[in-house]
Order: sequence, then C-alpha cells, then structure tokens
Amino acid sequence: MSKTSLEDIKTSSHGLRGRIAEDLGDGSDRVGADSAQLLKFHGIYQQDDRDQRADRRRDGRDKAWSFMLRSRLPGGRLTPDAWLAHDRIADAHGGGRLRITSRQGLQLHGVLKDDLRPALAELDRALVSSLGACGDVVRNVTCCPLPASSRLRDELDEVTDALADRFALRTRAHRAIWLDGEKQDEVSPGDDDTYGAAYLPRKFKLGIAPPDDNCIDAWTQDLGLLATTRGGRVDGFDVLVGGGLGAKHGKDHAVPRLGLPLGWVSREEVVDLVAAVVSFHRDHGDRDDRSRARLKFLVHGLGLDVVRQEVRRRFAGRLHPSHGAAPRPRHLHLGWHAQDDGSWALGLPVDGGRIRDDGSQRLKTALAVATAELGLEVRLTPSHDLLLLGIDDDRRRRVDELLDAHGVRRAEESTPLRNAAMACPALPTCGLALAEAERVLPTLVHALEDELASLGLGEQPLDFRITGCPNGCARPYVAELALVGRSKDRYVVHVAGGPAGDRLTEELWDGVPTDEVVPRLRPLFRSWAEERRDHERFGDWCHRVGVDALRTLSDAALAVSADTTGGAS
Ligand code: SF4
Repeated sequence: MSKTSLEDIKTSSHGLRGRIAEDLGDGSDRVGADSAQLLKFHGIYQQDDRDQRADRRRDGRDKAWSFMLRSRLPGGRLTPDAWLAHDRIADAHGGGRLRITSRQGLQLHGVLKDDLRPALAELDRALVSSLGACGDVVRNVTCCPLPASSRLRDELDEVTDALADRFALRTRAHRAIWLDGEKQDEVSPGDDDTYGAAYLPRKFKLGIAPPDDNCIDAWTQDLGLLATTRGGRVDGFDVLVGGGLGAKHGKDHAVPRLGLPLGWVSREEVVDLVAAVVSFHRDHGDRDDRSRARLKFLVHGLGLDVVRQEVRRRFAGRLHPSHGAAPRPRHLHLGWHAQDDGSWALGLPVDGGRIRDDGSQRLKTALAVATAELGLEVRLTPSHDLLLLGIDDDRRRRVDELLDAHGVRRAEESTPLRNAAMACPALPTCGLALAEAERVLPTLVHALEDELASLGLGEQPLDFRITGCPNGCARPYVAELALVGRSKDRYVVHVAGGPAGDRLTEELWDGVPTDEVVPRLRPLFRSWAEERRDHERFGDWCHRVGVDALRTLSDAALAVSADTTGGAS
C-alpha cells in the first residue's frame, strides 16, 4: 500500500516550510491543499464558514475562507501580557471572540489570511507560540490547574514544562515564515530530531493528573500520567498508554479506547520514558492509513506486554509495576480557592468555552480589565473554563465588583449540569461537523435543567457533553450523558460513562432528532430519581441498569404517553 499523500507532504516539506510563504503572498484569501496540511503544524487550520456555503455556491462564489489560530499553552497558563495579547488579536482579527479548548489552549476563529502574520507577531511579543498546537506532534501538554497553591502544583508544573520543552518543534520555519522573514530560513539538520522528517503518524495527546483529580481525563490521552506522592512530594507517575477517543460512525475498528497501565516511573525519569513511548509511536504507528495511526491501535492491537517490551528497549531508566492507577474524581475547580500565600484564585465557568461580550454578559471585557488593572494571571482548565490567579485579599472585593459590573456568571449561580457541560465548536467552522454542538448547547442544557429540576434533581452533578461528529474533541465518550453528531439535527445518544472518567459510555440510541432527546431521556431521569442508591450518579445508575433495560424503559414510557394522548405508536 502506498504512503498517504500527507506523509509525502510532511517528508518533502523542508522542515514544515512547503509552499506556505508563497501561498501567503499569492493575493488569494486561501492557501493550497498541501499548505493547508502543513499549516496545522504551525497551529493554524484553514476553514470556511459553512453557514455561507449554500448561498455562495448558488451565487457562483468561492467559499468564505478564514483561519483558526490556536496557541500552545502548557498547563493552560497565561501571564497577564499573554492574555491581553490574545484579547487584542481577538478584537483586531478574530471577531471579538476567543475560545478555550478542551486541551487548555486558546483559539481564535475567522482570522483572514492577511491577518495571520500580524496576529502571530502579537503572540510572539507576549512570548506565546502556536507552533505545534496542531499537527502530527505531541500536542499541548495538559495538567490539572490545581487551584490551591502547593508544592504539588509547582512540581507538576515543572514536569509539564519539561515535557512541553522536550517535545516542542525546533524547526526554524515558523519564525522564518511568520516573524523574521528569510534571514533565519536555513534548515539545520537535527532541527527536529525527536520527530524526524515525517513527524509522528498522527497527533499524540499527553496529560498529567495529580493524585486526587482527573480533570484532564487521563484515561483518554495517548499517554496519561497519574502522579503519585511520597512525603508530600511527587515521586513518580503511573503511566497509562493507548487512550484515544476518535471514532467513526459504522467503522468497527475506529472506536474510543481508554489508556491501559504501562507501569510506574520515577519523576526523574518520566521525560525519558515519555520520549521512549513517543519514539515507539513514531517508528511503528500506521503511516499507510491515518484512521489507524493513533497510538491506541498499536497498544490495543499488539497488547500491553509487547508495547512494554518495546518501550523498555528504548528507555534507559526503570519501568516499575504500576502502583494501581486508581480512579480519581473529576473536579471543575470553580469558585474561590485560598492560596498558601494568603491570596486567592477564582474559578469562573465559561459557557461552551466562549470568551466574548454577549448582551449583558461581558466576560471578555471583564477579563481584559482584570488582567490589565490587577495583573492577574489566567489558567485555563481542561473543561474549557478558567481560573484567575494572584488575587490579594484586599483585591477580592474589586474582582467581585468588576465581574458584577460586567454581568459575569459565577459557578454558584448555575446548576452543576450547566457548569460541567462541554461542547466542541462544530458548525459553522469545523469542516468535519455533521451536526451542531456549541450552538445548541444552551438550549439543550436549559431543557435538561428543567427536566432535572422537576424531579428534584436540579443540584445533582451530571456530566453532559456534545460534539458535532464522532471525533470526540469534547471527550464525549467518558461523559455520563453525551450526544455525538450523526447528521443534520440528529445525534447518537451515549450514557453510562464513569463520573471519574475511567469508564467509556455505551450507545443508547442512534439518530435521535434534537427535540426528541429530552423526551426520550425523561423516563430514565424519573427512574434514576426513584431508584438510585444514596447519591448514585446518573452515569453509574445507567451502567448498573444496562442500556437494554434503559431502552425498554424509555420505549415503554413513550408508548404509554402516546396511547394516553392519542398519538400513533
Ligand atoms: Fe469538529 Fe468533530 Fe472535533 Fe467537533 S468533535 S470540533 S465536529 S472534529
């Protein structure tokens, strides 16, 4: 079988240069297909506004092209300068909006081609880069934001930075194309020794969890690191390998997978161990078929013993037996958190991860003022919310005033369901979206809230996630309730994922129209309210009852309802 064309594009790209510079200067509003693939490694996706497609096609016009620009922010950390740089770029080039990603990055949509260089220059001045935020490389390293300051947080941040540095792209093409012009455009052999000329077969997701929290969904990462401690210090990590949520409707081989315990490694040796796993993926991942190229296909295909053997061969340190990789709850980190030094951190929920000024809620302006006036640092969470850090005791009131003046919602003003809900961007920007996600999230959350409130379950946590296609960007397959886009206005409904993120969902129904989702779930919520044991979560209850029984329960209730209302059933 021949190599995929993308493999050829990568290897002949001259260190990710390709024809990007030429395409940027060709006077059009888009780049060629090969450049569009290479741009991803620079943190940029070429997209078009799908809402405009039909009208433009009818009028004989080209698509409405623009670009998505994503920053690489290890652990989701931003200085005040970095936040304000993103804020300015959003105003100048991104329609006044920013989006927090589910990997603690920030992205802007709708950037025009001629605005890419000024936007990247603005990021560079704030010491932020988009290089390696997308593409077949180790993606942004996620790490629990640990809202309460501690030695543990500092130690995990150190490991995050060491990993981010180890797997950062070294190619000089980025600076040459976007920032410095041709003067730095010489390729140095060994620029990207870690990756080689063909980079990885597919993306590689890497995340770090502390001992008592799984907000990063460690089991869904290509490689998840679960910290262990001794005497209050991080001494090492249980290593999970082979997680990955990308799936395809109707393809049995492309299913979500959870990571498996590879072993335990000391803190001192963790970077080298990760490098061994990455090199194993680089050398053995499927480069003929991108739909089978993630690490999970190697791990679940070859088996853990073979993978362990291969990794040991590439790793000079010691891989010990796993310490158990115990499940840990997912926290959202919202609300006020006291810090060791007397200051405070405030976790704010961000609906759909969207930072914007929307009617009476002017979150974007509030955050710009808070970072500029008070010098607050920002930390993004893997649930696309954010924390403001470094709030002195005497400034706490000022922060509250500021947020109130801009109508910013706090966690305690919302239901647990709304605070935890996640959506991917989907339409109109994502070229792979089969259905809406972010834009229908508010309506669905509202309907679910009403339903739960009517049963006295309004204060019950319930992790609800929605994506526009099966690729799983908002990690739907470890939610308690998830909708995965099937086609326009229709979804596959999943339930029974573990609230700790260590159990996959099961498919309950396929092809459910948006407005039938809540009516079909109603009988299940009612039974959950009546039958749950202690504080049994919805996902656990669904798992205990089983999807066959859940289907029967819902069908029976809907049949009775149709009967009593004279409907056809
Ligand atoms: Fe696009 Fe699918 Fe990812 Fe949503 S899950 S952002 S629709 S690729």
